[in-house]
Amino acid sequence: APGAPAVVGDTPTHCPYCALQCGMTVGGAPVRVTPREDVPANRGGLCQKGWTAAELLTVPDRLTTPLMRAHLDAPLEPCTWDEALDRIAAEIARLQERHGRDAIGVFGGGGLTNEKAYQLGKFARIALRTSQIDYNGRFCMSSAAAALNRAFGLDRGLPVPITDLARADAIMVAGGNVAETMPPFMRHLTEMRERGGALIVIDPRRTATARQADLHLQPTPGTDLALANGMLHLAIQEGLIDEEYIDARTGGFEQVRLSVNAYWPDRVERITGVPVPQMREAVRLLARGRRSLILTARGAEQHARGTDTVTAFINLALALGLPGREGSGYGCLTGQGNGQGGREHGQKADQLPGYRKIDDPAARAHVAAVWGVDPGIIPGPGRSAYELLDALGTDDGPKALLLFGSNPVVSAPRSNRIEDRLNALDFLAVSDFVLSETALRADVVLPTTQWAEESGTMTNLEGRVLRRRRAVDPPAGVRSDLEILAGLAERLDAPGTWSTDPAEVFDELRAASAGGLADYSGITYERIEREGGVFWPCPSEDHPGTPRPFLDRFATPDGRARFTPVEHGGAAERTDRDYPIHLTTGRVLAQYQSGAQTRRVAPLVEAAPEPFVELHPDLAERHGVAEGAMVRVTSRRGTVAVRARLVDTIRHDTVFIPFHWAGEGRANLLTNPALDPLSRMPEFKVCAVRIEPIEQN
Ligand code: SF4
Repeated sequence: APGAPAVVGDTPTHCPYCALQCGMTVGGAPVRVTPREDVPANRGGLCQKGWTAAELLTVPDRLTTPLMRAHLDAPLEPCTWDEALDRIAAEIARLQERHGRDAIGVFGGGGLTNEKAYQLGKFARIALRTSQIDYNGRFCMSSAAAALNRAFGLDRGLPVPITDLARADAIMVAGGNVAETMPPFMRHLTEMRERGGALIVIDPRRTATARQADLHLQPTPGTDLALANGMLHLAIQEGLIDEEYIDARTGGFEQVRLSVNAYWPDRVERITGVPVPQMREAVRLLARGRRSLILTARGAEQHARGTDTVTAFINLALALGLPGREGSGYGCLTGQGNGQGGREHGQKADQLPGYRKIDDPAARAHVAAVWGVDPGIIPGPGRSAYELLDALGTDDGPKALLLFGSNPVVSAPRSNRIEDRLNALDFLAVSDFVLSETALRADVVLPTTQWAEESGTMTNLEGRVLRRRRAVDPPAGVRSDLEILAGLAERLDAPGTWSTDPAEVFDELRAASAGGLADYSGITYERIEREGGVFWPCPSEDHPGTPRPFLDRFATPDGRARFTPVEHGGAAERTDRDYPIHLTTGRVLAQYQSGAQTRRVAPLVEAAPEPFVELHPDLAERHGVAEGAMVRVTSRRGTVAVRARLVDTIRHDTVFIPFHWAGEGRANLLTNPALDPLSRMPEFKVCAVRIEPIEQN
């Protein structure tokens, strides 16, 4: 254990966890966090994860020295930084010489700062010259990103500052449980309700968020698209659509009008299980004022038809005339801490910094000039996250993987298969601050700095770029990812410059993003300090930033938003006699993502110690399952053993397991990696399972 960290002073910064990026001050002895009042996202509030964030800095199993395995069956042993970096560089050289540049894969994370995400993308493209890079954000909100690009020409999560929410007439949250995932967000929704606005929630479970809603629609998992199309059908039928807006600001509506003709209310009720009066009520609430928002989260997005599902909600928002108006529109509730920024700066398989397409010659020329290289050396697009992991160790897949800020052994779908692929690699290097379940399998582990020990920027769910500030000194022996990448670049004789100073890297990122869709060129550390954050796009230092994109025009070539007709197809895997129950996965308040951080924080472990399966008492009775009994849940891909929690808040045909745990209760052993054709998002949110009680001796 590193012991108590040396405190730099009382330092304002942001939470290590989710995309709300609540403001907090870190200081004191022992180190503690206090919420900041000056940050609009949380205004003095924090959730249990945020309140206990200081404990991450003193976790007993913190890594403070690199670890290396001499050979496949040898244990991980401490080594020096030179030994660790020399070994990685040697393995890269050996494998690339034998198998070509793409023999090395890189896997990043949506929690990395903008600077680290940028540098990682650059490292892959010009130090390794591999096309094989993607990141765990692909599992998070890539379907929303693809749908946003298709409709508006720009992928920005929320189209308004968070402070606009309280003044909305209605907000519909599809597949999001913000009361548990980001509780301070609820204050904005509560304030809206106190002012007379209506909250509508779409979720197969009556979650903590749904319990506070004015209207809760509880569809069968995998039927959100039909529900959204049905609501649009009703909006047309009831004369609630905004024809003037549709004419002036959109294109393609007539095809959508025709396609939703087939979604007559009774049919949609049969598909979704949502009663027609509830659908009608939801549409009326959304249409009654001029300021309404439709927000989607993972529940609507993590599907093999996630992009089309989000598109269906965007179609509804457009028909009601919401996007591009002050305080209203469609938005995505980003999940990971830098889920927004993490996807803008080149970690994605098909993108260069500034949301530039990697196969666009002008984009390649611009970025190559910033990097000081010939555009010809930048590789083309690579595999998406699941496809990359699934190809590891295969004949034409990467033979080595460098992994930063991610734990796919727990968080990837069909994760036993991913474990096998990781085991098939010639070489795995992981940068992390603890031995996560993935790091445990590595040949080299690099101990890295974590949130309050490092500087940089994060872009929150509003698109507001924020400063992460170093509040404590990191323990002796750890290095930042920027230092790790610089050390490797030097050993690989990489072209370009490899600063270890986040401020310098941010300046380079600004230049690389200039002129792109996610233009950060007008954002400086000083401006962020002065203004409490700056919204991108921000193309010059005298530009005010863009809290509300699309007010004048959408980012499409003709400035109009695009309707796209989309058809219900249902879940990729249907229930049947052998697997008669829907499984949906998700999150609980006291844990975060793969749990690599939160499963090490004592109060969070006490609050949420183990995985469980939530099921309706009627379903439990049919299967002879008692409250608290151990249950075997089996899908076509694996089996887990979890404790039963009987609740009447879930549908009779559906069970729910949170995915934060490893071991016997690892929910992602069950999930289906069927991929969305556009976003390559796996279908985490629905698969078919059976349940059986486990006999206790
Ligand atoms: Fe941290 Fe998110 Fe909780 Fe805020 S809501 S304290 S950002 S985990």
